[in-house]
Amino acid sequence: MDQATPDLDRVVKDIAEDMRGRTDRGEVATYIPELARVDPRAFGIAVIDAEGRVFAGGDSETPFSIQSISKVFTLTLALGKIGDRLWRRVGREPSGSPFNSIVQLEYEKGRPRNPFINAGAIAVTDAILSGHQPREALGDILRFMQFVADDSSITIDEAVAASEQRTGFRNVALANYMKSFDVLENPVPYTLGVYFHHCAIAMSCRQLAMAGRFLAHLGRNPSTGFSVVQPERARRINAVMLMCGHYDGSGEFAYRVGLPGKSGVGGGILAIAPGKASIAVWSPGLDANGNSHLGRIALEQLTRRMGWSVFGA
Ligand code: GLU
Repeated sequence: MDQATPDLDRVVKDIAEDMRGRTDRGEVATYIPELARVDPRAFGIAVIDAEGRVFAGGDSETPFSIQSISKVFTLTLALGKIGDRLWRRVGREPSGSPFNSIVQLEYEKGRPRNPFINAGAIAVTDAILSGHQPREALGDILRFMQFVADDSSITIDEAVAASEQRTGFRNVALANYMKSFDVLENPVPYTLGVYFHHCAIAMSCRQLAMAGRFLAHLGRNPSTGFSVVQPERARRINAVMLMCGHYDGSGEFAYRVGLPGKSGVGGGILAIAPGKASIAVWSPGLDANGNSHLGRIALEQLTRRMGWSVFGA
């Protein structure tokens, strides 16, 4: 065992302990009614190092709604399906706007700024859907999640999907607006059905950290040996995560944590320390930008103590 092992174990345990006692936990998302039922006292963390060792604390085995973290994996799939042609339909610049904003879409003729804001992720889902039935496309997304996490038990939380299907009026507006610019190829209800369901995939911190390993190790899961994407593509997905993964809080996340990361309104964050670790944290309370409040603080502590920022130790 190398020197870093006991260190990381201690750091993860200290963070879980610190987060357990905090009273300022942010606000749980309520605009998807099913998400409002989650216990705001939950906190989980899982870190998987380059050797595949798992360091975990708190509720690291409890499945939660990954929501927008699924967008990292749909981006990976869509790039695999149509390659760089995807970038004609969606940009890769930070938006500086909230996750569900519609204003930029009008100025930019229906082409979303990046694949992680809702409009961009809906366009990415539409690219995956083309040539398939919604059920097949969703099956492909779920199987891909299970493949990268090396875990066939991962499922979709149907109650969360149905909840968003009933109340996702903003996303309906975004999709219809893009459709008017011919950015979407498929019927809006089909594309949104797949989108709402992949956002409703439920995973634990440990499963999510497993799923992110290929991004930490040049496109390949070092334990299974499976190559998911080429090294260049892994680097580029990480770059988009760094610039756009936290919506209009992306600058703050880079400043404080210094790693590529993607948040979801379920309170999860997947963060990648290239060459070192894949990290997942979860705490359902969100900050004003819709990103996990304690999740970000936990990652800030982790990267500071481990010297893992991509900008230097
Ligand atoms: N399904 C959510 C929505 O479309 C995802 C948002 C998020 O996780 O940031 O509103």
